[in-house]
Amino acid sequence: MANDTNRFQAIISHCKEYGFIFPSSEIYDGLQAVYDYGQMGAELKKNIRDYWWKSMTQLNDNIVGIDAAIFMHPTTWKASGHVDNFNDPMIDNKDSKKRYRVDHLIEGHAENLKTAGKEAEADALLAAMDALLAKDDFAGLKQLIEDYKIKCAVSETCNWTDIRQFNLMFSTEFGSTVSSDAEDNKVYLRPETAQGIFVNFLNVQKTGRMKIPFGIAQVGKAFRNEIVARQFIFRMREFEQMEMQFFIRPGTQKEWYEKWKETRLNWHKSLGIPAEKYRFHDHVKLAHYADAACDIEFEFPMGFKELEGIHSRTDFDLKQHQEYSKKKQQYFDNDIDPATGKPYGNYIPYVIETSIGLDRMFLAVISQAYEEQDLSTPEKTDSRVVLHLPAKLAPIKLAVLPLTKKDGLPELAEQLMAECRPHFRCFYEEKDSIGKRYRRMDALGTPFCVTVDHQSLTDGTVTIRHRDSMEQERVKMSEVRELVMKAIG
Ligand code: ATP
Repeated sequence: MANDTNRFQAIISHCKEYGFIFPSSEIYDGLQAVYDYGQMGAELKKNIRDYWWKSMTQLNDNIVGIDAAIFMHPTTWKASGHVDNFNDPMIDNKDSKKRYRVDHLIEGHAENLKTAGKEAEADALLAAMDALLAKDDFAGLKQLIEDYKIKCAVSETCNWTDIRQFNLMFSTEFGSTVSSDAEDNKVYLRPETAQGIFVNFLNVQKTGRMKIPFGIAQVGKAFRNEIVARQFIFRMREFEQMEMQFFIRPGTQKEWYEKWKETRLNWHKSLGIPAEKYRFHDHVKLAHYADAACDIEFEFPMGFKELEGIHSRTDFDLKQHQEYSKKKQQYFDNDIDPATGKPYGNYIPYVIETSIGLDRMFLAVISQAYEEQDLSTPEKTDSRVVLHLPAKLAPIKLAVLPLTKKDGLPELAEQLMAECRPHFRCFYEEKDSIGKRYRRMDALGTPFCVTVDHQSLTDGTVTIRHRDSMEQERVKMSEVRELVMKAIG
């Protein structure tokens, strides 16, 4: 593969060709930054979601899951600060009329400098940007863009507007009555799933009799009117988040923040993706709700980028909801405080949040898995595209392939299908040569293929082929189910 851009393009094409991801409403030329998951993508996405859900809820007795609505009372977003603060600084190029997120424009230029071998200059630019962003110094940022002569990629000019803030929330109207004041009916499509957890904090705590520390997890859609929506499913306007809010005693946030950083990194590593593909990035400019925050960055084909955020959100959200709703959001802690010998009593809990984009995780998994392998020998040229997906995430776990369509082989293969189908996703295929069928399964990331042949009829054994090594071994047909179950955990 010539370079990372080509590799990224190849992954995007592969996703489309093999039914993982299609552009939304493609027959109408698509909708920018909106994508549909196809028959393979939906399975892979579900498996990632399930793996996260299980690791959060089933494996932690003190974390429960909920499924809150996308629409929420509009005051939620005033209380959370999203109406006033969920903005990105934007700049327009006057010639091309193209709008850029200021940090993306500058980061893009820094990347170009790095590619040209000017590492030090790139680092200086990024450091200057961080310092200015931390102060919301828009005049300074514009000056920086001008000083570095950063050009618009379309017009190739430096003719920039001033920098302005742009709110990222989508809004729509609720109900059928026409109001004279449109604001009365205005509701937002949630820009994060977290608020659905905060407004249900006491419902869950009381009905679930939860004791601090405890967590509430949720997976669901979120919507952001991203200005620079690009890079495939990395930045979408409609996407899915997997978030967990962990409610703790005030004053314990530092230790829990460190614990969740470690726990989340271990979760990523448990998928067998090499550790060097991940790194932490501490936030310089903290969001309005946070007292500490970092990203777990992953090395995507376009470089290291945010995959997951871990935020120490203090008591900001619950306090705000208490103030706006006039309903107490307190917890009574009857554990004894060793300092006073009395119960800790009433307080608004602090919160550590872990927030990961399901679509970004999908991109991380598939881009890590994708490989174009040259299998040429001196005798013949050969190659394959293989997805080295972790077996537990693969859309199809087992392909059952009768060698021929006759002699009772399909019937025997169907017996194996019937035995395995209730336990994991299988795929039956009798068309084309075995070689072609293997290649197709490699491209879908299927970890095991079983070939049923004439010997199977006499001794009940089959050939099982391992995707990554391409090794084949003869096993008893009756052992196949167990073998696959063991691999998918
Ligand atoms: P970014 O800086 O990339 O815009 P963010 O810091 O705004 O991301 P958070 O608000 O922390 O993101 O959201 C938590 C997670 O949700 C992110 O780590 C990311 O995985 C995912 N996410 C956020 N925005 C998008 C998007 N537009 N498309 C896909 N996933 C997203």
